[in-house]
Amino acid sequence: MTAPLDISELHWMLDIVQSIDVGVVVLNRDYRIQAWNSFMENHSGMSANQVAQQSLLDLFPEIDRPWFTHKVETAIMLGIRTFTIWEQRPYLVRFKSYQPITGLADEMYQNVTILPLRSISATSDHVCLIIYDVTNAAINKRQLQAANTQLQELALHDGLSGLLNRRHWENCLEREFARHRRHNSQASLVLFDIDHFKKLNDSHGHRAGDEVIRQVARVTRQMARESDYAGRYGGEEFVVLLPHTGLEGARQFAERLRCSIEQLNVDYEGLVLTCTASMGVACMEEDMPGYGMLIEAADRALYRSKANGRNCITLSKAGELAL
Ligand code: GH3
Ligand code: MG
Ligand code: MG
Repeated sequence: MTAPLDISELHWMLDIVQSIDVGVVVLNRDYRIQAWNSFMENHSGMSANQVAQQSLLDLFPEIDRPWFTHKVETAIMLGIRTFTIWEQRPYLVRFKSYQPITGLADEMYQNVTILPLRSISATSDHVCLIIYDVTNAAINKRQLQAANTQLQELALHDGLSGLLNRRHWENCLEREFARHRRHNSQASLVLFDIDHFKKLNDSHGHRAGDEVIRQVARVTRQMARESDYAGRYGGEEFVVLLPHTGLEGARQFAERLRCSIEQLNVDYEGLVLTCTASMGVACMEEDMPGYGMLIEAADRALYRSKANGRNCITLSKAGELAL
């Protein structure tokens, strides 16, 4: 047992409560303010005298009443402290955040402890709110999350073209192949390769070639739907997986894409570069044992487009692979 505080100790306690860097508020059962420390004065711009006996809920209309009163009543009823954290709700009361360096948060993120206060008769007739400024921790966590998202993006996309990289694209294909098989629905694949790309590199340099790859990728991304999977399969080889699309739909898509690539004028250091692409189109067949066969079918069709003079599309014929 601790000895009861004498008056001077009480005075120290008040000094401490005044000078700590957390908000301390005491409310009565009507949510009227009984105590308001200097942290609260500084951040709200309202003195303890100004707010005394005023309803916290009236002073701060941003407080979600049903949620907050439920929290407080639960704490009182059970006689235990309860907490709110910034991840659930960024703040209880809206205070400006002073982040002169980072400028990343306009408002103060807060964690709040709700502490029922017992009177001598042992009933809780007051409640203490302890408000912590957790803006720095919240900003750090948000930044970390943003960095992680960015890292994830980098891991899934090809740096030059911005399209899905081969590994990720193949993962998507594997998943989509299994899904279409389950639902017995159609999916198609367009595989294409830029024609005589080596010559373009040799004539204008590797960086010119890079710019052509970038522009072809941009057009491909533009023409593909949100639900399609466009990827860079190799150096100047691209793939577009078209879910829920049969061979005829895929042919139309490939033809539009081929035309757009043909009409592309790529500006590079005062030059206007053009290119064409040869395409192979294949559709998922019932007898295909795995997704690899779909790639193989499109690849064979692409090979025929090259053999037929390039800048054209070839459809894979069903059963061709069995030959
Ligand atoms: P074809 O019409 O038969 O496809 O002829 P091609 O010259 O395009 O085919 P080939 O496969 O012989 O050449 C592809 C060239 O692409 C070879 C390689 O140096 C170049 N390449 C591969 N990746 C990149 C890249 O990221 N940037 C650039 N600029 N060139 C690349
Ligand atoms: Mg090529
Ligand atoms: Mg190639």
